[in-house]
Amino acid sequence: MPRLSPLVLSLALLAPHARAAALAPGGTGAIHAPQAPDGPGAAARPASAGERRAEPAAAMGSPFSQHYLWPLDRALHDGLWIVNYMDHDPTTGVLDYAGGADTYDGHAGTDNALYSFRLMDRGTKVLAAASGTVAYLGGPSPYDRHCDFNWPDDGNWIWIAGGDGSYHEYYHLRASSMTVQLGDVVPAGEMLGLVGSSGYSTVPHLHFEAGDYSGPGNTYVPRDPYTGVDNPLSSLWAVQPAYQGSLPFGIADMGVFTEAQVGGDVGNTSYCDMLGPIPQPTVYGIGENKLCMWFEFQSRCCDTATIVVRKPDGSVYGSFDKVLSAADRFDWFWAWFYLAPYNGPADEGAWKLQVTTPSGALISERSFVVGAATQYPPRFWPRAGRSFRLDGVTVQRDTLRAYPFDPSVTYALLNAPAWVSLHDSVLSVGPSSTQPTRSSYFQVVMTDGAARRDTAFYHVVDMSKPLDPLLAVAPPAPRGLSLAASPQPARGPVALAFTLPAAGEASLVVHDLAGRRVRTLVRGALPPGDHLARWDGCDDAGRDAPAGIYFARLLTPSGTATRTLVRL
Ligand SMILES: [Zn+2]
Repeated sequence: MPRLSPLVLSLALLAPHARAAALAPGGTGAIHAPQAPDGPGAAARPASAGERRAEPAAAMGSPFSQHYLWPLDRALHDGLWIVNYMDHDPTTGVLDYAGGADTYDGHAGTDNALYSFRLMDRGTKVLAAASGTVAYLGGPSPYDRHCDFNWPDDGNWIWIAGGDGSYHEYYHLRASSMTVQLGDVVPAGEMLGLVGSSGYSTVPHLHFEAGDYSGPGNTYVPRDPYTGVDNPLSSLWAVQPAYQGSLPFGIADMGVFTEAQVGGDVGNTSYCDMLGPIPQPTVYGIGENKLCMWFEFQSRCCDTATIVVRKPDGSVYGSFDKVLSAADRFDWFWAWFYLAPYNGPADEGAWKLQVTTPSGALISERSFVVGAATQYPPRFWPRAGRSFRLDGVTVQRDTLRAYPFDPSVTYALLNAPAWVSLHDSVLSVGPSSTQPTRSSYFQVVMTDGAARRDTAFYHVVDMSKPLDPLLAVAPPAPRGLSLAASPQPARGPVALAFTLPAAGEASLVVHDLAGRRVRTLVRGALPPGDHLARWDGCDDAGRDAPAGIYFARLLTPSGTATRTLVRL
């Protein structure tokens, strides 16, 4: 079979399952993070404040008197994204605080999700956003790697009473990782445990929620700490993080895998595989039939991603466009392509998987090496991290397993205290520790015959020791000028989220295609940080603006930003 030209290849892409396809869209699926109740299960949420298991400090003053610190020791977009805000639509629709749809029906908190279980294994700390008394604990739940809704339990969770009638709630923590107990008085910034995927959860994430019992009959009412066009209550954040729902297309993670890694048929690929994520081989053999690329992304409606596979000489092997819909706000995507033997043996060397804009601007890329035979790096399987909870009596063990099961792999402790030992691949953690605080950490390094390494990250909790030292939660980094619109295109109102790097006079004006001013939304002195405006679709005289294309123009001393608005 002759090698097809790139032109023929791209035409062949129109028939996704044609034998000649070099790069065929394989599948996609929403990131379930999660799409069903992931907060408290019916049994997990205290029905009323009367069910306290530990007595919080007496209520005083008005609820929600504290300002919240960021509840994680990982910043947004550093392996972490917000995939669901609180739902403000009282019926079956969805509406987040900023007028967007980044939530699901009935969601009462905010889901801060890690990109993968590998990041969860490294140990992302959950921190108290506000001070208070530990009032309820859920669990212990031993299984913390849920990626679908099969057999969920209530998981590991913590409720902290703020002392003013408010509660702060942290869900889905990693098994054995919780570092507080009932009655502990915790300051803001105190470590509470590690992010996991226990309970009603489909991705490693922290469901953070605030609420009180101010409803009729002292029933529970959630409180969104984010303020915006659809939540007029004041922000509870010390520094409210920028709205994530209107960011342009971006890649969270991506890679290439072989058919063998998903059981011999790329059609069986699931989001649970993505979440691992599947380890990328160090070398892809020239005899591999199909390879599969995947990426995890966030987008807005109507962004277009161009996926390109390039051969070692830089020429395009295959490409196609994927037009993203509003439903693709947080999603994953995969596509397969023939490497060999259909097109003959593949070219050896460094290939590239690229995701670009339609005009060719690179968004993200990953290279993969094609050589004589497929080789995998060593890897702890299925997890590369675990928490132990010492009980003072039992020696606990973990049998380390490597993937692939290569007898040449050796294991070594790193940063481990004397009460941890390792014999061959069996790790033992002593019944008591000499650690001065509740948490300590160590690692095991796995090395194969070719000196390639992987690391497992361990966490040990000793409840007989004082609380962990407070973690300084870094204030959000200063941000540049930005302007985003959501939803787009829109039939109704549009939320315009903008960020000012410095204080100053600012104006936000909607113009029509001819440049005429239609509506002045903002004019005046504003502080630095995040702001929200709302265009209801009317002009300055209160008349409905006709359908068409408009421009929102933000003028500030720091610069100018413009967004196109499509009104349907
Ligand atoms: Zn949630």
